[in-house]
Amino acid sequence: MTHSFDALILGGGAAGLMCAVEGGRRGRRVAVLERADRLGKKILISGGGRCNFTNIHCRPENFLSSNPHFAKSALARYTPADFIALVEKHGIPYHEKTLGQLFCDRSARDILGMLEAECQDAGVSIVLNTKIQQVERTTDFVVRAENAEFRAPALIVATGGLSIPKIGATSFGYDLARQFGLAIRDPWPGLVPLTLSAEDCSHYCDLAGVSAEVIASCDGQQFREKMLITHRGLSGPAILQISSYWKKYWKEPLPILIDLAPGRDVTAVFRHPSTPRNSNTLRSELRNVLPHRLSDRWLDTHAPPSWTNQALADLEKQVHGWAITPAGTEGYEKAEVTAGGVDPDELSAKTMESRKVPGLFFIGEVVDVTGHLGGFNFQWAWASGAAAGRAL
Ligand SMILES: Cc1cc2nc3c(=O)[nH]c(=O)nc-3n(C[C@H](O)[C@H](O)[C@H](O)COP(=O)(O)OP(=O)(O)OC[C@H]3O[C@@H](n4cnc5c(N)ncnc54)[C@H](O)[C@@H]3O)c2cc1C
Repeated sequence: MTHSFDALILGGGAAGLMCAVEGGRRGRRVAVLERADRLGKKILISGGGRCNFTNIHCRPENFLSSNPHFAKSALARYTPADFIALVEKHGIPYHEKTLGQLFCDRSARDILGMLEAECQDAGVSIVLNTKIQQVERTTDFVVRAENAEFRAPALIVATGGLSIPKIGATSFGYDLARQFGLAIRDPWPGLVPLTLSAEDCSHYCDLAGVSAEVIASCDGQQFREKMLITHRGLSGPAILQISSYWKKYWKEPLPILIDLAPGRDVTAVFRHPSTPRNSNTLRSELRNVLPHRLSDRWLDTHAPPSWTNQALADLEKQVHGWAITPAGTEGYEKAEVTAGGVDPDELSAKTMESRKVPGLFFIGEVVDVTGHLGGFNFQWAWASGAAAGRAL
């Protein structure tokens, strides 16, 4: 049996649902085809179950993309204030946690419930448990699932990236883009813990659970947030943020630089002629800025070769630029996002429609636009979803 609509949206996650709401509100007959047995599974697990649904300081600089200008138009036309207005219309209590990050007071279920209610209001059809087997373009797009066929002149791909395969992430969106001749920027795991070499791990990984505020930098980017030592390497917001900029297979594996004492001069004390130049003094100075176990361990492997002014200056430099080369990442199983994706140059920045294939749209994480940690990925999902929905 064939079901006809004005638009078919593949994927009922954040971007797909926002697109459906906007399209439905315009009187379009919209269907969301979702592979899973429920909508928005990622919304439910996001932000530790409280969904960091946007960031009030959202700017284009908070996103990585092969085309840094691409996201600007959609982000400007659907802003955090637009999403906050929707949240407030539904009476959902929320709070700012830190750095402009807005979270639900109660649960991420509030956000999913809001989107489901908006879809219902806009007359959107939701079809769950739909395993898509084939997509074809005749005069319309024809989507074949196990037991049904769907047709529409517009097809919106909102199937997300590769992160968290255990809740159903697949390469479907990239495969479909390739099928229609669109270029893909190679995907890689972003916002992901980094692993260390066996040697580095032997020095630091038994400190798992220890954290410190640092500045992590790589590839011209830097983030001042917490770093956490894990059983296999490094994590915490500063590391997750910088991981999106670190790629294993660059010509040479690139180190990340960690400033262990941002804004502090740990060797200043040695400028006093009366200060004894020895490891006890140094140890107690570093303990003032780092957890004791981390400062002691770090000094075990970075003891100055002498107590000359030069040796102390070199040590100060190392404290602010500890170069450590990750062995790899924890991969898509642990990555909050997939960076890379459908090449933005294939799409209209205003509508997300393919330049080559009219009627075919890509929105959300499947596109090569990746946000920093802190609510930016949802803001991209809302903004790109709204851009496509308004063009239906
Ligand atoms: C643990 C975790 C926590 C996160 N927390 C936050 C946060 O607090 N704030 C934030 O901004 N971002 C967060 N993110 C990132 C954010 O969840 C994603 O960027 C966002 O969900 C992307 O939206 P999307 O609609 O593009 O894709 P998704 O939300 O992944 O939705 C894609 C949908 O498509 C469906 N699908 C896949 N293949 C098919 C197919 N073949 N046919 C039909 N349907 C299909 C999937 O089942 C899914 O429902 C988090 C991510 C993770 C993994």
